[in-house]
Amino acid sequence: MPVMRDIFALMEKYGHEQVVFCRHEGTGLKAIIGIHDTTMGPALGGCRMIPYESTDEALEDVLRLSRGMTFKCGVADVDFGGGKMVIIGDPVSDKSPEMFRAIGRFVGGLGGRFFTGTDMGTMPEDFVHAKRESNHFVGLPKEHGGSGDTSIPTALGVLQGMRATAKFLWGTESLEGRVVSIQGVGKVGGRLLDLLMEEGARAVIADINEERVHQLKEKYGDRVELSTVTDIHRVEVDIFSPCARGGVVNDTSIDELRCQAIVGSANNQLQEDRHGDELHERGILYAPDYLVNAGGLIQVADELEGYNEERVLAKTRAIYEMLLQIYERSRQENIGTHRAADRLVLERLEKVADIRRIMLGWNGR
Ligand code: NAD
Repeated sequence: MPVMRDIFALMEKYGHEQVVFCRHEGTGLKAIIGIHDTTMGPALGGCRMIPYESTDEALEDVLRLSRGMTFKCGVADVDFGGGKMVIIGDPVSDKSPEMFRAIGRFVGGLGGRFFTGTDMGTMPEDFVHAKRESNHFVGLPKEHGGSGDTSIPTALGVLQGMRATAKFLWGTESLEGRVVSIQGVGKVGGRLLDLLMEEGARAVIADINEERVHQLKEKYGDRVELSTVTDIHRVEVDIFSPCARGGVVNDTSIDELRCQAIVGSANNQLQEDRHGDELHERGILYAPDYLVNAGGLIQVADELEGYNEERVLAKTRAIYEMLLQIYERSRQENIGTHRAADRLVLERLEKVADIRRIMLGWNGR
């Protein structure tokens, strides 16, 4: 008999409130929803579809990612908690409109405790089907009442992170003449490059998509240099910006970094927390990923209040001040910036939990 994992022990390890398993035979749906912490508000987080090798792998992923969302929501100062959904399946061959309608039923059944939208393997159009069944989906295409492409505020947030980093390290927020390496010039990295060019910075770029890289070189000429996917983190620059995959700061790469700071959009840039401690010891300033890439989250959270573009951009610009606060705390307490950010979120959660002890009234809960 297979050994069953103790799911309560896992929930305790990550600090979860609720885990929901969803199965629908007709569409082949197998999904797990992780609701980590709703102190700040309903859980919010993307829905990813991956052909996980096992239920255990999917469960571990949803727990880890939903916990991360609590920190991301906390630091972005949106009134939502951490949640995530994973679908076990191949996004190319296993998807159907009906599957997403089934998701609409399951998520709707949670009565507003959880909101979700696109992530790896899912597209804004998928949630148009889900939204026919319940109203708990964000990031839909504009023509369906959504806020559209999140990479616009995400890139702006990363730029704000770079400005704050420049202010902290070099005393001026100007990026003029600074050299930034960008790993991955897709939706966010590409937009970030445009913004950096407007700021008068120079860039070194690399992407597995060669065509994309050459198009950008043609567009910006001498101001952009090309590197390779294997070398991009080794180039000597002012700021290294990972905008492709996670785990970029690891045991191998950490010795090879030749930058003064790391500010990028990729999720989970530190392979483990100890790599953040090591960056701190080596004097490489690390902008916590979940803060500087929060622009997309700010946009979808705003959608739930009635989307207002100006408000989204203003909140995203505030990443600048928040990051300076975290850098200052890291300096004062002599801890890594990733730990300073975590502490700030935990303090916020405690404060909000204390306020929520005040009863709203018998009918107003
Ligand atoms: P994207 O798929 O549009 O762009 C990623 C780019 O990285 C692609 O051009 C791809 O070819 C390239 N790439 C893949 N592997 C690479 C490698 N090993 N080396 C160099 N380049 C590589 O994705 P995106 O929306 O721009 O997101 C980029 C990162 O930012 C992801 O980690 C994503 O999770 C994160 N993020 C995105 C948003 C958003 O709003 N889009 C929000 C928060 C975080």
